[in-house]
Amino acid sequence: MAAPKVAVVGAGVVGLSTALCIVETFPTCSLAVVAERFTPSTTSDVAAGMLIPHTTPDIPIHVQKQRFKETFTYLFAISNSAEASEAGIHLVSGWQVFKSTPKEELPFWSDVVLGFRPMSEAELQKFPQHVCGQAFTTLKCNCPPYLLWLEKRLKAKGVQMYTRKVTNLWELHSEYNIVVNCAGIGAHQLVGDQKLFPVRGQVLEVHAPWVKNFIRDGDGLTYIYPGIHSVTLGGTRERENWSLSPDPSSTKDIFDRCCSLEPSLQQARDIKVKVGLRPSRACVRLEREVLSQGGAKLLVVHNYGHGSGGFSMHRGTAKETAHLVGECIAALQDSSSRAKL
Ligand code: FAD
Repeated sequence: MAAPKVAVVGAGVVGLSTALCIVETFPTCSLAVVAERFTPSTTSDVAAGMLIPHTTPDIPIHVQKQRFKETFTYLFAISNSAEASEAGIHLVSGWQVFKSTPKEELPFWSDVVLGFRPMSEAELQKFPQHVCGQAFTTLKCNCPPYLLWLEKRLKAKGVQMYTRKVTNLWELHSEYNIVVNCAGIGAHQLVGDQKLFPVRGQVLEVHAPWVKNFIRDGDGLTYIYPGIHSVTLGGTRERENWSLSPDPSSTKDIFDRCCSLEPSLQQARDIKVKVGLRPSRACVRLEREVLSQGGAKLLVVHNYGHGSGGFSMHRGTAKETAHLVGECIAALQDSSSRAKL
């Protein structure tokens, strides 16, 4: 059969990294990325991009750990290469601090990040409202540069990029053999997934170049993440809130909470507000589906619903998706050789 034609719907971190994994694994397939929005206008552009996973109760821990490890290893290699500054990937050290002792002594990702250890008394003195904490080094993606870097690699491999809103996956049937759905929160409308819901997040980007270490409150709501050119201050989590308008009272609240963790932020300048909708679900939808209409079939692979962890998990889920695409290619080849008999 001719080279299979694959369309990836979505150009956030999940769509672009999935497309890259597919083209790296199956270099002969003809691949296109079709998306309503590209960087800098996706949810992925708003993210803080820190590699600190949240635990998802509905996904087995060994699966979450494998996805995180795959992602960490991939980005760690980039951070150690000459590509690091263009890709916007760097190591960052810091502290996660707790107001009460956490139930879980060691998070599942503690031996994936680097140098994980309990904080010393001297370190804890910086946080008088907190009773204990963990120190470690992890990775941070500066999101728009990383998305541009992924796009550049895809284009270098001959992948076509189309700006287009897809209203129904079936409309791609006449042009493609396999469709990979990485539409993020857009999948709510695109495939009518009622289990997918937005968790609105607001963050501030500030100029505070003296802040070099990350600080994260263990509840995950308040965080200070230094990037290459700015520091991300967060955040909010508002389930089922679809509004993309900045909320001034949240801006003040985020700023006050971050200043109570790091008082020097009172001197921060150039405050920019960003809002995004985390594509949340009890677990990521990562599975094959066959759509059929009037005897014709379209092979679909879904990879969406990464919630708060799209950056922490993207390379791991991209690899699993590429594996499922491989199964679809095998099924197409099988049906094509049967048709010739
Ligand atoms: P998106 O980035 O939303 O991309 C979806 C793509 O699909 C877009 O290109 C869109 O245009 C396209 N699309 C949608 N519908 C259609 C359609 N019908 N037709 C064509 N195209 C369509 N994660 C972390 O790991 N670490 C963090 O520190 C972190 N911080 C965050 C902070 C905030 C404030 C927010 C909001 C999120 C944060 N996240 C973080 C979560 C992370 O941003 C998401 O998990 C991730 O961006 C999801 O990526 P995605 O590619 O699935 O979705």
